[in-house]
Amino acid sequence: MEVLLLTLALLLLISLLEVFFSARSEQKLTRTATNLSLLAISATLNTALLGAVVVSLPILLRDAGVGVLVVLPVPIWLTWIVGFVALDLFAYVWHRLSHQVQWLWRLHAVHHADPHLDVSTVVRAHPIHGMLTVIAAALFAAAMGFPPELLLWYQIVSTLVSLSHHTDLAWLQPRWDRRLSTVFCTPAVHRVHHSQHAAHHDSNYGGVLSLWDRWFGSYVADSPDAEIRFGIASLAKHRASNLLISLWLPVLLGKTKKAPEERL
Ligand SMILES: [Zn+2]
Repeated sequence: MEVLLLTLALLLLISLLEVFFSARSEQKLTRTATNLSLLAISATLNTALLGAVVVSLPILLRDAGVGVLVVLPVPIWLTWIVGFVALDLFAYVWHRLSHQVQWLWRLHAVHHADPHLDVSTVVRAHPIHGMLTVIAAALFAAAMGFPPELLLWYQIVSTLVSLSHHTDLAWLQPRWDRRLSTVFCTPAVHRVHHSQHAAHHDSNYGGVLSLWDRWFGSYVADSPDAEIRFGIASLAKHRASNLLISLWLPVLLGKTKKAPEERL
């Protein structure tokens, strides 16, 4: 709930700044309404169906002495450092799987279908993919025996970084973006990930750290395109901004012929 409230407050603040300072506002109102509706559906389903289990499972298992870091004699400060890095590696692996496993890609493609990138894109996810992500992260945290607060703090930090990736406010100078991108995921790094070209969107999966992409061969520094075209090439922009089409997209993509940009 804390992460949801923080996300909403920052979304509102950055959206207001984007209205005044961003270069484009393509279909801004329809897109934002669809993206926020997807957040509302996901939050409702997650709270109603998963809330109690996701919160109580890691606590129950930890109290029962289950979990790698519960069994090993690791000091608490080290648990937090190892845990934070491990959660970011888990986020990288889950994101990469969401691109490489076909049925997961069709769900995750709802996030990528946004024809423009701004702060509302962060919350644009298919509710089923959102639920699977929460279940997978909670099971991983429980198996590792992380303190329950660690998952919460990782979510807060990764949400802040994610908001900074997606906003179309040019808040970071290119030279600073380049320097920071040696370790962290920056706006320039993540924008490549939203390209229509499969070779580019199948790269730069990192959440907070870009090191995983560099170490596991999925890092792409720059898009060769002068201006990156966002979205799914085989899906018209106005359709991607429609809520019902967004919810039905995993089925639609199974029936739609891929555009040349989407083929590797
Ligand atoms: Zn992705």
